[in-house]
Formats: sequence, structure tokens, C-alpha cells
Amino acid sequence: MFNQNKLKGLKACVLGLGKSGRAAASLLAANGFEVLISEESAMSHAGSFAFPAGVTVETGGHTDKIYECGFWIKSPGIFPQNPVLLEAKKRGIPVFSELEVALAFMPKPVRVFAVTGTNGKTTTTALLGAILQEHAARENKGRRVHICGNIGSPVSQCVAAVKPGDDIVIEVSSYQLEDSTYFHPQVACILNITPDHLDHHGGMKGYIKAKAKVFKNQRENDVLVVNGADAVCAQLVEKAKSRVLAFSTHPKHLLKTDVFFDGDELIFSEGHQIRPPQLKGIHNIENAMAAALMALSSGVDAAAIQDAFSRFEAMEHRIEQFAYHRGVTYVNDSKATNLDSTITALKSFEKSKNLWLILGGRDKGASYEVLIPYLKDYCKRILTIGEAMDKIEAELHGAVDLVRCGTLEQAVKTAMDGATRGEVVLLSPACSSFDQFKDFEHRGKIFKQLVNARIFKERMDGDK
Ligand code: ADP
Repeated sequence: MFNQNKLKGLKACVLGLGKSGRAAASLLAANGFEVLISEESAMSHAGSFAFPAGVTVETGGHTDKIYECGFWIKSPGIFPQNPVLLEAKKRGIPVFSELEVALAFMPKPVRVFAVTGTNGKTTTTALLGAILQEHAARENKGRRVHICGNIGSPVSQCVAAVKPGDDIVIEVSSYQLEDSTYFHPQVACILNITPDHLDHHGGMKGYIKAKAKVFKNQRENDVLVVNGADAVCAQLVEKAKSRVLAFSTHPKHLLKTDVFFDGDELIFSEGHQIRPPQLKGIHNIENAMAAALMALSSGVDAAAIQDAFSRFEAMEHRIEQFAYHRGVTYVNDSKATNLDSTITALKSFEKSKNLWLILGGRDKGASYEVLIPYLKDYCKRILTIGEAMDKIEAELHGAVDLVRCGTLEQAVKTAMDGATRGEVVLLSPACSSFDQFKDFEHRGKIFKQLVNARIFKERMDGDK
């Protein structure tokens, strides 16, 4: 367990100068620790970060100074098989996740809500955060709700603002979970588990093991919300000590469910009926069910949930319909960074073979073959971009009409030249963005800019 009193006087090493590493270093320094941040890459902009006294930074490789530190904080993106981590293990240097260090510094008591899963984490975290904020406002007792983790600010960055009695809602990735040993949320949720990040976790087994850590330390009074139609979730809950609540939109589910959707409202086994938020796709019904079950199990009343859902608006980069021009609809789903989220996006449309789908980026290890039946049902043409182009082409075996575009710019041009009235141009790439973009937000913004610039030009030309 990360125990600041036991570790006092020891120097901390933060491995990785990313967002969460920087936040962890600042938190440790604010609590009197001397910190070395060690970054493998050159990171030319490293000098632009400001740190409190007590923090030193090395970039362009790890020196032996890291082994002089008494404990380490590992940034989630670093591969578990990195040689320096193996060496730390050999030397008996304790390695903690940013998540568990941050929680160790939180004032007590706080309620911790954790949302994980392959897809839907950010949306569900935002929904739950909105519900708890509505509840806190109605309660009017000064309780504050902090929404953090992968959704935006690292948990370490939130700590300073937390007061006893507050709620902490955390979007937790499999990377953060893999690195955590003592993480113990009172209310946890696993939305679904399908292949993703297999390269990082060394396969599906490692990925599932990481996800299971969200409830590993839970006890009888804690709550675990899971997808009752997900085979992996159904198997995992057999090991849970906590109270399990399940949701499903599928008629065939493996666990007894506590909520169903009648096509209009969410109907809970306790009798509540709640209209879901106005978000596209059946997957968002599942996200709403999960958020509502987490909230109901924590004493939030149905009216607060209903108010939060009624006010909730669609999120950027998630099946975001942002333009309509000459009969063609443009949709940005840049957040679809794995196969399952792209399938989800396709399923949110009609089976009309009218989608121009932009696919590709940095490959994450799984086979694109699973896409074939969906691409056949929903797509007119596939436009490929990025590093994964060859693999995608090989694994789709010529089953669909495919154009190699290379760049997003070329894909947008091809789609906008070819799409006709009633068709949809969809960026839902099933790959990460890091081969050509800073992150998925950058990719989504560039996509929207490219489309909007061309629409603007065509409108200007049309006025001449
Ligand atoms: P995450 O944070 O896990 O990446 P998001 O809420 O940002 O999830 O949604 C990303 C994409 O994943 C969405 O655009 C959609 O295509 C897909 N998705 C969202 N929720 C679900 C769900 N419950 N089941 C399957 N796919 C989903």
C-alpha cells in the first residue's frame, strides 16, 4: 500500500513525463517529497513545464539515478515489460500507479466511483458525474463531485480541491488498473470487455486480468455494476465479493439484470422508470443504465437522475454529427480507437450501405476480419489511412470496396468528391491516432476542420 508516512524521506521517481506523471510529481512535491521525473524520449518541449521546488527532470533516456530513488510511480503508457521496470522489480523497488498514489493523498472519507470497460467509459463517467452533481445540488450540504482520470484531469491533479465527504468519479483505464494493487472503489463498473490494447497487456488474458482489478479489493458493502450480456463480465463476477448489479439491452443475457429498456424508458427492478438521455445508439442506453445503477445504489433518487439525463448533451468525437451539406451527413467518431467501438458506431446507423467509412491509424493488435459483416451491411466504401492500411487491406480480403488514401486529408477529399445525397461520411477509425496525430481529439478536430473548410469553399463558390 502506498503509505506516505512509511515512505517519508525517500526520493520518488516518476517514470514518464506525460500528463499523469507531471501531476503525480507535483502532488508528491507538494507533500514534501523530493522527485525525479525520468523520461525515455527526448521531449523537446520538456522545458516548458513548470514544477514546484523539489522536482528535477531528466529526458532522453533513464540514467542510473532512477535506481537511487526509494519508490517509483509508473506512468500508465509505459509497457510493463520495459527493462527498467524489470530491473526495479529485481532490486525490490516498490512501483505504484499514479491512481493509487493520488487516492492515498485524498482527505478521508470520500466515496470513490470507478468506471472501466473497453468502450463507453468517458460517456458513462460524464453521465454519472452529472447525476452526482445534480444530487449534491439538491442535497445542498456542500458535497462536491470531482470527475477525473482518463476523462480529463489526472486524479493527482484533483487531490488539492477535495474535501472530506466529497465524491470522486474516476474513468479508469486498463493501464492504470494493471499498475494498481490496492485500488478500492466503493462503487465500480465494468461496461464491457472486448479485445483492445492487446499489445500492451500481452494478450486478452492480461487485459481481462487488468480490468478485474477494478473490483478485486471490494468487500460486501461495495457495489459492482456489470454488463449482464457480456460473457467476460459474467464470468468475472463469480469472483466478486461485492454486491453485483447487472444491466443489459440484449434479450439474451447471462446474468439476472436489474434494469431493462422498454424502447422508451429504463425500467429498474426497484420500480423506477427513467427516460434515458438523448444520445445516439443503443450503446448509450447501456451507458445510461450503468450510470443510473451506480447512482441508485449510492442513495441517489430517480428524480435527480432524470434531471441529469434530460440536460445531458452529446459529447465531442463520439458519433458526433457535426455537418450536413448537399444531402451528405458528416459524423466524427474519432474516439473509436478499437474494433468494437467502430462496430458500435456502425450499428447506430441504418443498414443502408450508405456509409463512407474512414478506417485506420496505428494498429492495436486485433484482427480487422471481425468488421467484414458490418462493413458489408453498412458501408458503401472504406477509405483507409495511416500505418494500419496494409494490415486492414489484407485482413478484409477484398470483401468490401476499399480505397487506400494514406492521409486523413486525402480520405476526406475522396469521400467528399464521391458521396451523394442520403449518404454519410463517418470517421470511426478502429485504430489509435498516434501515427499521424497528437491524440484522438486532434484527429477529430482536423477531420472537422477539413470537412468544414471544403463545405465553406463550396458554399462560397456556389454564391458566385
Ligand atoms: P471510452 O472512454 O471507453 O473510449 P467513450 O464514451 O469515449 O468510450 O465512447 C467511445 C466510442 O465507443 C463511442 O463513440 C462509441 O462508438 C463506442 N461506445 C460507447 N459506449 C459504448 C458501449 N457501451 N458499448 C460499446 N461501444 C460503445
